[in-house]
Amino acid sequence: MTVWALIVAAGRGSRAGGDIPKQYQKIEGVSLLQHTSNAIASHSEISGFVYVINPDDRALFDAAVKMPPDLAVCVVSGGATRDASVRAGLAALPDTAQIVMIHDAARPFARAEILDRLLSALQTHPCAAPALPVVDALWKGADGLVCGTQDRSGLYRAQTPQTFRLAEIRAAHAAWPEGESAADDVEVARRFGLDVAIVAGDEDNFKVTHPADFTRAAQTLRQWQAKDKPMDFRTGQGFDVHAFEAGDHVTLCGVKILHSQSLKGHSDADVAMHAVTDAIYGALADGDIGQHFPPSDPQWKGAASEIFLRHAVDLAASRGFTITHTDCTIICERPKIGPHALAMREEMARLMGLDLDRVSVKATTSEKLGFTGREEGIAALATASLVKL
Ligand code: MG
Repeated sequence: MTVWALIVAAGRGSRAGGDIPKQYQKIEGVSLLQHTSNAIASHSEISGFVYVINPDDRALFDAAVKMPPDLAVCVVSGGATRDASVRAGLAALPDTAQIVMIHDAARPFARAEILDRLLSALQTHPCAAPALPVVDALWKGADGLVCGTQDRSGLYRAQTPQTFRLAEIRAAHAAWPEGESAADDVEVARRFGLDVAIVAGDEDNFKVTHPADFTRAAQTLRQWQAKDKPMDFRTGQGFDVHAFEAGDHVTLCGVKILHSQSLKGHSDADVAMHAVTDAIYGALADGDIGQHFPPSDPQWKGAASEIFLRHAVDLAASRGFTITHTDCTIICERPKIGPHALAMREEMARLMGLDLDRVSVKATTSEKLGFTGREEGIAALATASLVKL
């Protein structure tokens, strides 16, 4: 069984917007047409591709599509209509091809399982095509009003690749009346008297049509890629100490607390926020506050610590990570943290854009031992948990 794909890529795709036809526009750095080709080529039965393109697009095509050398590739010029383009593609298929899968250039997510179902159906039918049953209620409307309902039983949304025994679909297209246009190749086959089996389609196998579909396609692509690799869980830790000096308040987790001393430091000396920030950098394996905001640089003198925290949060987001939890332990004899802990959690949650139940702030004394016990300063420990799905 020799199976070829015929990709109909001659359309202009003007509804999708952009400066070039949609099939040559990029999704995550790769052309839509390449994504479509990759999905089909991933099936082991595919021997080669015929692409039908607009002759004006040859340079775009050459830049957009690179197929592995073990696959045969043939590029032909399309005709004035989709039917004419398909006929040009069918004519270009080698006679060794027994089965042809005629596929939209703008359907980048045809799973191998769909191709399996199509090829299986072709063992008993001359044609097969994927489709999804219509599940929404269907209305008729006029002038903005519902004017009737339509029974949805037996209705399907058609997808591609529509799959045929080559000899039959060639004969069906040859018999199609000149000048008449067909909705798709299934209509051509049926007019010729061929039975077309319906196999289960897939919601991911959508056609990129409108500008918003590019966003959906990028999301679907990331989901497909994520399935091939495990979730990336990270845990980072942070630790910081600041000494007391003369003053009347401390700032901890962004909350100003009146106290008989202040914390000494280059910025606002928010030892707790620094520990959480370093925990996030730690989870990203990307240094610490001192590397991103060097103390030797005067522009950071007196800077609010939330600048550092926001930087770490933005860095995590830019790398695709979601912060799922932070936990901070403040170690001091005084001031008492308990009365301020909720305000600290709320402020940290606000700064990091997290729900309150993902932000923990707690405190302990060191039983009057060590520098914190002697009230020479405050120490803080933190962990941050990050995940990339
Ligand atoms: Mg610090």
